[in-house]
Amino acid sequence: MTNTKPFRHKSEPAGLYVHIPFCLKKCPYCDFYSITDSSLQHDFTSALISEIRMIKYPEFLFDTIYIGGGTPSLLDARTISQILDASKTVLNTSDLTEITIEINPGTIVNKKLIGYREAGINRINIGVQSFQEKNLKFLGRIHTVGDTEQSIQWARDAGFKNIGLDIIYGIPGQTRDLLLNDLKKAIEYRPEHLSCYMLTYEHGTPLEKDLKNGAFNPLTEKQVGDLFLLTLEFLSKNGYHQYEVSNFALSKRSRSRHNRKYWSFGPYIGVGPSAHSYIYPERSWNKADVSGYIEKFNSGQRPDRKKEILTTEQMMIEMIYLGFRKVRGINTDKFNDMFQLDFNQIFKNELDQYRKKGLVRTTDKYCSLTQDGFLFLDSIASAFISKDLIKNKKNTMNSREAIC
Ligand code: SF4
Repeated sequence: MTNTKPFRHKSEPAGLYVHIPFCLKKCPYCDFYSITDSSLQHDFTSALISEIRMIKYPEFLFDTIYIGGGTPSLLDARTISQILDASKTVLNTSDLTEITIEINPGTIVNKKLIGYREAGINRINIGVQSFQEKNLKFLGRIHTVGDTEQSIQWARDAGFKNIGLDIIYGIPGQTRDLLLNDLKKAIEYRPEHLSCYMLTYEHGTPLEKDLKNGAFNPLTEKQVGDLFLLTLEFLSKNGYHQYEVSNFALSKRSRSRHNRKYWSFGPYIGVGPSAHSYIYPERSWNKADVSGYIEKFNSGQRPDRKKEILTTEQMMIEMIYLGFRKVRGINTDKFNDMFQLDFNQIFKNELDQYRKKGLVRTTDKYCSLTQDGFLFLDSIASAFISKDLIKNKKNTMNSREAIC
């Protein structure tokens, strides 16, 4: 096997991910870890703050904090403030530039948003999903279109200058016109950031079960691909610049600094049940169990945490898969330096094949997918990672976001 050179430098800023594992109701498409028993919230918060206080990475400068879930907007501003205060006490946050919280429009009032702003949150991500009631019903969301519109307005009134909206496309019955209505409505608010996710039928979710039982007719791959290209075209025409397969920003400054760490192998620490951490070359994660998490802290112990040292094969897979998600693509210089290989040489056949089809492009330093190439992201990435030199196909990196 090849040699691997360490490439994670202590000087690279790190991110803190805080997982709040509570939701009022589970959305049928969601496979992220959360529970609906809110009676554990108080004890959970105490345990979470204890875990934050145990973080020991004095060598890292943290420039982002991301509070996700679950539904973090179930927590009041005082609790969010306590979480941020604890983080700032133990971490080196002298250059903290981005503090994000995910908002579910069904859980927010203007006072809470003002409180979040005062607590130090400077970026919010609102789970809109759709501006059509029928779609919200299909997705099992707890909020109405009116709740969403009100939340966005309240967020602006509270002084948030960096707002992201999440939209889902590929919903059964969705036509080009219906998706365009959603996108037009979204950009009316001029959000600084937009995430447009394709609806997926994750294994073991109620939505996947309904699909298998024929409860609805999903869109065809061709229809979903068409909606994806429509999204790219519409957002690009309206000033939103795509920087990752699902993510669009009004300016470079409004790209998600935190999420870019996931796609670029940046260091991050995750706290809370099911949260993942990555500090080269180790990946670790907490058990997805709120009660067990609380019990451990109550008995003075650390939560159950699994660890693995990433193998060279796993790192190559992550670098290819995550690199292809980015519009900029895989940094082939970094790849060559890290694995002591020649990217263009080892993937010569694949590159020739996909370049001819107009799905992949290469420059001196990067290998990226074209717009049409994004339609085949999974199969192209699979073709690269199924080479003999990359045998282990496991991809467990925390690269997805909950579509909340
Ligand atoms: S999509 Fe968000 S709100 Fe819905 S169950 Fe998942 S984490 Fe909770």
